[in-house]
Amino acid sequence: MEIIMKTENLAKDYGKEHVLKGITLTIHEHTFTAILGPSGSGKSTLLNILSGLVKPTRGSVWCGNEIISDFGEKQLAGWKRVEVGNVFQEYLLLDNLTVQENIKIGICPHKPSLSFDRLVRILQIEELLNRFPAELSGGQQQRVSIARAVIKSPRLLFCDEATGSLDEENSKNVVELLHNLQSAFDMTILFTTHNPQIARTADRIITMKNGAVQSDMRNEHPITARKMVWG
Ligand code: ADP
Ligand code: MG
Repeated sequence: MEIIMKTENLAKDYGKEHVLKGITLTIHEHTFTAILGPSGSGKSTLLNILSGLVKPTRGSVWCGNEIISDFGEKQLAGWKRVEVGNVFQEYLLLDNLTVQENIKIGICPHKPSLSFDRLVRILQIEELLNRFPAELSGGQQQRVSIARAVIKSPRLLFCDEATGSLDEENSKNVVELLHNLQSAFDMTILFTTHNPQIARTADRIITMKNGAVQSDMRNEHPITARKMVWG
Protein backbone atom coordinates (compact mmCIF):
# COMPACT_ATOMS: atom_id res chain seq x y z
CA MET A 1 0.00 0.00 0.00
CA GLU A 2 1.22 3.46 -0.90
CA ILE A 3 2.01 6.01 1.76
CA ILE A 4 -0.36 8.93 1.24
CA MET A 5 0.70 11.12 4.16
CA LYS A 6 3.55 11.31 6.61
CA THR A 7 4.75 13.58 9.37
CA GLU A 8 8.12 14.11 10.89
CA ASN A 9 8.65 15.44 14.39
CA LEU A 10 5.45 17.39 14.34
CA ALA A 11 5.12 19.76 17.28
CA LYS A 12 2.57 22.33 18.33
CA ASP A 13 2.94 24.83 21.15
CA TYR A 14 0.24 27.11 22.44
CA GLY A 15 2.14 29.64 24.48
CA LYS A 16 4.13 27.63 26.98
CA GLU A 17 1.99 24.54 26.54
CA HIS A 18 3.49 21.77 24.38
CA VAL A 19 0.33 20.31 22.93
CA LEU A 20 2.05 18.03 20.39
CA LYS A 21 5.50 16.77 21.25
CA GLY A 22 7.20 15.45 18.13
CA ILE A 23 4.88 13.18 16.18
CA THR A 24 6.28 11.00 13.40
CA LEU A 25 3.83 8.78 11.56
CA THR A 26 2.82 7.49 8.14
CA ILE A 27 -0.65 6.98 6.76
CA HIS A 28 -1.31 4.43 4.02
CA GLU A 29 -3.71 4.93 1.19
CA HIS A 30 -7.16 3.30 1.30
CA THR A 31 -7.06 2.59 5.02
CA PHE A 32 -9.20 3.51 8.01
CA THR A 33 -6.98 4.83 10.80
CA ALA A 34 -8.26 5.57 14.28
CA ILE A 35 -6.50 8.15 16.46
CA LEU A 36 -7.47 7.13 19.97
CA GLY A 37 -6.84 8.99 23.19
CA PRO A 38 -8.43 10.73 26.15
CA SER A 39 -9.74 14.27 26.01
CA GLY A 40 -6.87 16.75 25.89
CA SER A 41 -4.33 14.28 24.47
CA GLY A 42 -3.95 16.31 21.26
CA LYS A 43 -6.08 14.34 18.79
CA SER A 44 -7.91 17.32 17.33
CA THR A 45 -4.75 19.39 17.13
CA LEU A 46 -3.01 16.57 15.24
CA LEU A 47 -5.95 16.08 12.87
CA ASN A 48 -6.26 19.82 12.28
CA ILE A 49 -2.58 20.02 11.35
CA LEU A 50 -2.84 17.01 9.01
CA SER A 51 -5.86 18.55 7.29
CA GLY A 52 -4.20 21.94 6.93
CA LEU A 53 -6.48 23.81 9.33
CA VAL A 54 -3.71 24.54 11.85
CA LYS A 55 -0.01 25.29 11.27
CA PRO A 56 2.53 23.20 13.20
CA THR A 57 5.08 25.03 15.34
CA ARG A 58 7.80 22.62 14.20
CA GLY A 59 8.08 19.59 11.95
CA SER A 60 6.63 18.71 8.56
CA VAL A 61 3.60 17.16 6.95
CA TRP A 62 3.85 15.49 3.53
CA CYS A 63 0.95 14.54 1.32
CA GLY A 64 2.19 12.56 -1.67
CA ASN A 65 5.38 14.34 -2.74
CA GLU A 66 4.38 17.73 -1.41
CA ILE A 67 5.23 19.29 1.93
CA ILE A 68 1.92 20.85 2.82
CA SER A 69 3.26 22.38 6.03
CA ASP A 70 5.42 24.62 3.80
CA PHE A 71 2.53 25.74 1.62
CA GLY A 72 1.57 29.40 1.51
CA GLU A 73 -1.98 30.42 2.32
CA LYS A 74 -3.29 30.27 -1.23
CA GLN A 75 -1.66 26.96 -2.11
CA LEU A 76 -2.92 25.44 1.15
CA ALA A 77 -6.46 26.67 0.50
CA GLY A 78 -6.35 25.08 -2.95
CA TRP A 79 -5.02 21.80 -1.57
CA LYS A 80 -7.76 21.65 1.06
CA ARG A 81 -10.48 22.46 -1.44
CA VAL A 82 -9.46 19.62 -3.76
CA GLU A 83 -7.94 16.94 -1.55
CA VAL A 84 -9.48 17.20 1.93
CA GLY A 85 -12.85 16.34 3.41
CA ASN A 86 -13.66 17.23 7.03
CA VAL A 87 -16.33 15.92 9.36
CA PHE A 88 -16.63 17.32 12.87
CA GLN A 89 -18.60 16.50 15.97
CA GLU A 90 -20.95 19.36 15.06
CA TYR A 91 -22.80 18.88 11.80
CA LEU A 92 -22.41 22.47 10.59
CA LEU A 93 -25.21 22.28 8.03
CA LEU A 94 -26.77 25.44 6.61
CA ASP A 95 -30.25 25.77 8.11
CA ASN A 96 -31.88 27.46 5.16
CA LEU A 97 -30.72 24.94 2.57
CA THR A 98 -32.25 21.52 1.91
CA VAL A 99 -30.30 18.30 2.41
CA GLN A 100 -29.66 18.10 -1.31
CA GLU A 101 -28.38 21.69 -1.43
CA ASN A 102 -26.22 21.19 1.66
CA ILE A 103 -24.53 18.17 0.06
CA LYS A 104 -23.93 19.97 -3.23
CA ILE A 105 -22.02 22.73 -1.42
CA GLY A 106 -19.24 20.15 -1.10
CA ILE A 107 -18.81 19.73 -4.84
CA CYS A 108 -15.47 20.88 -6.18
CA PRO A 109 -16.01 22.35 -9.66
CA HIS A 110 -12.61 21.40 -11.03
CA LYS A 111 -12.75 17.68 -10.40
CA PRO A 112 -15.21 14.85 -10.97
CA SER A 113 -17.64 14.27 -8.10
CA LEU A 114 -18.74 10.91 -6.77
CA SER A 115 -22.14 9.76 -7.97
CA PHE A 116 -24.66 11.75 -5.93
CA ASP A 117 -27.24 8.96 -6.15
CA ARG A 118 -24.83 6.26 -5.04
CA LEU A 119 -23.52 8.38 -2.19
CA VAL A 120 -26.94 9.21 -0.73
CA ARG A 121 -27.99 5.59 -1.09
CA ILE A 122 -24.96 4.31 0.82
CA LEU A 123 -25.53 6.93 3.53
CA GLN A 124 -29.23 6.07 3.67
CA ILE A 125 -30.39 9.64 3.18
CA GLU A 126 -32.04 9.34 -0.23
CA GLU A 127 -35.49 9.84 1.31
CA LEU A 128 -34.43 13.07 3.04
CA LEU A 129 -33.16 15.15 0.15
CA ASN A 130 -35.85 17.83 0.27
CA ARG A 131 -35.91 18.26 4.03
CA PHE A 132 -34.21 21.03 5.99
CA PRO A 133 -31.65 20.30 8.73
CA ALA A 134 -34.14 21.20 11.49
CA GLU A 135 -36.32 18.32 10.26
CA LEU A 136 -33.55 15.74 10.76
CA SER A 137 -32.25 13.75 13.74
CA GLY A 138 -28.62 14.16 14.82
CA GLY A 139 -27.62 10.93 13.11
CA GLN A 140 -29.31 12.02 9.89
CA GLN A 141 -27.62 15.43 10.04
CA GLN A 142 -24.23 13.81 10.51
CA ARG A 143 -24.82 11.54 7.50
CA VAL A 144 -25.62 14.62 5.42
CA SER A 145 -22.45 16.34 6.61
CA ILE A 146 -20.47 13.22 5.66
CA ALA A 147 -22.03 13.28 2.18
CA ARG A 148 -21.06 16.94 1.84
CA ALA A 149 -17.46 16.17 2.84
CA VAL A 150 -17.16 13.17 0.55
CA ILE A 151 -18.96 14.18 -2.65
CA LYS A 152 -15.82 15.77 -4.12
CA SER A 153 -13.99 12.46 -3.68
CA PRO A 154 -11.31 13.84 -1.36
CA ARG A 155 -7.95 12.14 -1.23
CA LEU A 156 -8.24 12.16 2.56
CA LEU A 157 -11.28 12.24 4.85
CA PHE A 158 -10.69 13.57 8.36
CA CYS A 159 -13.35 12.82 10.98
CA ASP A 160 -12.89 14.49 14.37
CA GLU A 161 -15.06 12.75 16.99
CA ALA A 162 -17.71 12.41 14.32
CA THR A 163 -19.96 10.41 16.62
CA GLY A 164 -19.29 12.59 19.66
CA SER A 165 -22.82 14.02 19.79
CA LEU A 166 -24.67 10.82 18.91
CA ASP A 167 -26.24 8.07 21.00
CA GLU A 168 -25.06 4.47 20.81
CA GLU A 169 -27.33 3.35 17.98
CA ASN A 170 -26.57 6.37 15.79
CA SER A 171 -22.86 6.17 16.56
CA LYS A 172 -22.73 2.56 15.43
CA ASN A 173 -24.67 3.46 12.32
CA VAL A 174 -22.33 6.33 11.40
CA VAL A 175 -19.21 4.23 12.00
CA GLU A 176 -20.67 1.42 9.91
CA LEU A 177 -21.55 3.79 7.08
CA LEU A 178 -18.07 5.34 7.10
CA HIS A 179 -16.62 1.85 6.66
CA ASN A 180 -19.10 1.16 3.87
CA LEU A 181 -18.07 4.40 2.15
CA GLN A 182 -14.43 3.50 2.58
CA SER A 183 -14.89 0.21 0.75
CA ALA A 184 -17.28 1.59 -1.87
CA PHE A 185 -15.02 4.48 -2.87
CA ASP A 186 -11.62 3.18 -1.74
CA MET A 187 -11.23 6.13 0.59
CA THR A 188 -8.52 6.98 3.09
CA ILE A 189 -10.09 7.89 6.42
CA LEU A 190 -8.60 9.24 9.66
CA PHE A 191 -10.97 9.19 12.61
CA THR A 192 -10.26 10.58 16.07
CA THR A 193 -12.12 9.13 19.03
CA HIS A 194 -11.85 8.65 22.78
CA ASN A 195 -13.85 5.43 22.41
CA PRO A 196 -11.68 2.26 22.22
CA GLN A 197 -14.61 0.33 20.76
CA ILE A 198 -14.75 2.58 17.70
CA ALA A 199 -10.97 2.30 17.34
CA ARG A 200 -11.30 -1.50 17.19
CA THR A 201 -13.19 -1.19 13.89
CA ALA A 202 -10.16 0.49 12.25
CA ASP A 203 -7.31 -1.06 10.22
CA ARG A 204 -4.84 0.81 12.33
CA ILE A 205 -4.93 2.31 15.82
CA ILE A 206 -2.69 5.22 16.79
CA THR A 207 -2.99 5.86 20.52
CA MET A 208 -2.13 9.31 21.84
CA LYS A 209 -1.26 10.39 25.35
CA ASN A 210 -0.18 13.86 26.49
CA GLY A 211 0.59 15.09 22.99
CA ALA A 212 2.66 12.09 21.94
CA VAL A 213 2.04 8.80 20.16
CA GLN A 214 1.89 6.10 22.79
CA SER A 215 1.39 3.21 20.39
CA ASP A 216 0.84 2.72 16.69
CA MET A 217 -0.43 -0.69 15.63
CA ARG A 218 -1.98 -2.44 12.72
CA ASN A 219 -5.27 -3.93 13.83
CA GLU A 220 -5.15 -7.47 12.45
CA HIS A 221 -8.73 -8.28 13.40
CA PRO A 222 -10.98 -5.26 13.11
CA ILE A 223 -14.47 -5.76 14.53
CA THR A 224 -17.53 -4.70 12.56
CA ALA A 225 -19.35 -1.59 13.74
CA ARG A 226 -22.35 -3.71 14.78
CA LYS A 227 -20.13 -5.73 17.12
CA MET A 228 -19.06 -2.70 19.15
CA VAL A 229 -20.06 -3.01 22.78
CA TRP A 230 -20.79 0.28 24.47
CA GLY A 231 -19.62 0.74 28.08
P1 ADP B 1 -8.22 16.28 22.13
O1 ADP B 1 -8.83 16.48 20.78
O2 ADP B 1 -7.48 14.99 22.27
O3 ADP B 1 -9.24 16.43 23.22
P2 ADP B 1 -6.94 18.84 21.68
O4 ADP B 1 -6.03 18.69 20.52
O5 ADP B 1 -8.25 19.49 21.44
O6 ADP B 1 -7.13 17.40 22.37
O7 ADP B 1 -6.22 19.65 22.83
C1 ADP B 1 -4.98 19.28 23.37
C2 ADP B 1 -4.50 20.39 24.30
O8 ADP B 1 -4.23 21.56 23.56
C3 ADP B 1 -5.51 20.78 25.36
O9 ADP B 1 -4.82 20.99 26.56
C4 ADP B 1 -6.08 22.07 24.83
O10 ADP B 1 -6.47 22.91 25.87
C5 ADP B 1 -4.92 22.67 24.06
N1 ADP B 1 -5.37 23.49 22.92
C6 ADP B 1 -6.01 23.04 21.82
N2 ADP B 1 -6.28 24.04 20.97
C7 ADP B 1 -5.82 25.17 21.56
C8 ADP B 1 -5.80 26.56 21.18
N3 ADP B 1 -6.32 26.97 20.00
N4 ADP B 1 -5.23 27.42 22.03
C9 ADP B 1 -4.70 27.01 23.19
N5 ADP B 1 -4.67 25.73 23.61
C10 ADP B 1 -5.23 24.82 22.81
MG1 MG C 1 -10.78 16.72 20.19
